Amino acid sequence: MRWSNTLIPTLKEDPADAEVVSHKLLVRAGMIRQVSRGIYDYLPLALKVIRKIETIVREEMDRAGAQELLLPVASPAELWQESGRWEVYGKELVRFKDRHERDFCLGPTHEEVITDLVRRVVRSYREIPFNLYQIQTKFRDEVRPRFGLMRGREFIMKDAYSFHTDAEDCRREYGNMFEAYKRIFTRCGLRFRPVEADTGAIGGTLSHEFQVLADSGEDALVSCSHCDYAANIQKAEVKPRRPSARDVTKIPPELKKVATPGKKSVAEVAAFLDRPAEKFIKTLVYKLDHKELVAVLVRGDHEINELKLLTVLGCREAVLADEAEVEAATGVPTGYLGPIGLELRTVADRAVQGMRRAVTGANEVNAHYVEVDQERDFTPSAFADLRVAVAGDPCPRCDSGSLESYRGIEVGQVFYLGKKYSEAMGATYLDAEGREQPIEMGCYGIGITRMLAAAIEQNHDDNGIIWPFSIAPYQVLLLPINYREPAIQEASARLYEKLLALGTEVLLDDRDERPGVKFKDGDLVGFPLRVTVGAKGLERGIVELRWRQNGKMEEVSLSEAARKIQAAIAKGLEASAFGD
Ligand code: ATP
Ligand code: MG
Repeated sequence: MRWSNTLIPTLKEDPADAEVVSHKLLVRAGMIRQVSRGIYDYLPLALKVIRKIETIVREEMDRAGAQELLLPVASPAELWQESGRWEVYGKELVRFKDRHERDFCLGPTHEEVITDLVRRVVRSYREIPFNLYQIQTKFRDEVRPRFGLMRGREFIMKDAYSFHTDAEDCRREYGNMFEAYKRIFTRCGLRFRPVEADTGAIGGTLSHEFQVLADSGEDALVSCSHCDYAANIQKAEVKPRRPSARDVTKIPPELKKVATPGKKSVAEVAAFLDRPAEKFIKTLVYKLDHKELVAVLVRGDHEINELKLLTVLGCREAVLADEAEVEAATGVPTGYLGPIGLELRTVADRAVQGMRRAVTGANEVNAHYVEVDQERDFTPSAFADLRVAVAGDPCPRCDSGSLESYRGIEVGQVFYLGKKYSEAMGATYLDAEGREQPIEMGCYGIGITRMLAAAIEQNHDDNGIIWPFSIAPYQVLLLPINYREPAIQEASARLYEKLLALGTEVLLDDRDERPGVKFKDGDLVGFPLRVTVGAKGLERGIVELRWRQNGKMEEVSLSEAARKIQAAIAKGLEASAFGD
């Protein structure tokens, strides 16, 4: 391809609305343009990267034994009503009516549609297992579309669904997909980590996310310093600890009420009383499924993990109750609530168990209790793991490690679904004895367009993107200095033709631009290998190779250039294939 025939509208300035590097660079490199919030045009260079990622995904999915199909973008409400998700899914699900007033939606994911297909075609155990995947546009009306391709409303996803007679076989396929995912992300040149994950709106019981490690990532992760435990913070367990033994020879100090005028938050009261936050018991009131109010206790320096709360309380939704509701139910303004004498069902995080000499609200305006002794002064209805894990916590799996925290971009997720959809939608098979059984299912997603953003977050410098060879829009930028010069034009054209004949993905910068502009654009778009053809070099019969990743340069003779470039690409591809 010749640059003069392309559409690569590069920009000097960062777009005003872009917060993260990948968004800025995708726009500046002329790869995407926003059409509406979270909806983008993919310009030719971006589409090339998308196609390359898709090719790697297809190769590895096919190798793992999955088959590609294509499901519709729009699906009828009835399927979603059958699974129950028509009600459960919030505004992310874009709903519309067709001309006959029938309800439809745009697929944010395709469990319903594929389960419907499979229940209509599968009869016997002999016809399963199989794994079907598609690469398709998804629509989710995200609350906060942001960061360019990282969180769009319209985006491209690879989603796969597998169908099995029993849980064991389904878990085998889960492992098979897990390995395929590792190969996919490695081949795309990403540094990533699989972590234990919550199952969210998709449902099921076992799940891992594949997280690309990047400080700009939206997900907080923890991993053990010693063993291979790693989890999304939403899912990370906290190791149960044994409360320290009570010294029975000592009489604990008596419970005391102290005045704390106008001091409400832990930080304010802690400063006022000069006691550390970890000696506080915070009392927060949640409203469960729009009905019951429940008080939740955590240590002053800890945060409540709302997903754990949902699981422990067995409800679908838990939101912090507003101040008026709390006051109406307890007679106490928030900020002064405490577990002693509180007339609400109360659950507590395990760290609260056995706390002594603690501080809590006194259920009275402008007052707190000090010297609170949990065992002596109050008993919640349950203790459970309710808090967010933090760096430094002991590992929940091994005895030696502690948790470290970092951030990631979720590029893929695998789920063991079990019978959630097959039972709800009646997807069954006849077993060897002729009995009808629900099908076991797994599902496996990869965010194709999010991977572009993730790859850039990990591979860039001040000058622009640094594409790994495996997913670069072109592997080679052929850059003639002063293209008008006939000798240069002729030498570049010959090398260009040779490279094309060898099947090299090469872009010839045939623009009549200053060298500085061409170098800048080349670095901005991030072609892995640049080949500069200049007058001085030609006099000596050489061209210059430069690797985008490390700035390394090498002069090669014009006659050998094509072969050397081929070899450099092969080496670059191999490096990403093996994660070097
Ligand atoms: P998130 O937690 O980031 O909202 P999710 O867990 O809801 O994502 P899944 O249902 O697991 O997403 O979808 C599979 C993959 O699709 C994700 O791993 C992610 O890579 C990608 N994806 C999900 N939502 C978006 C989005 N809004 N924009 C781009 N990619 C997305
Ligand atoms: Mg996910």
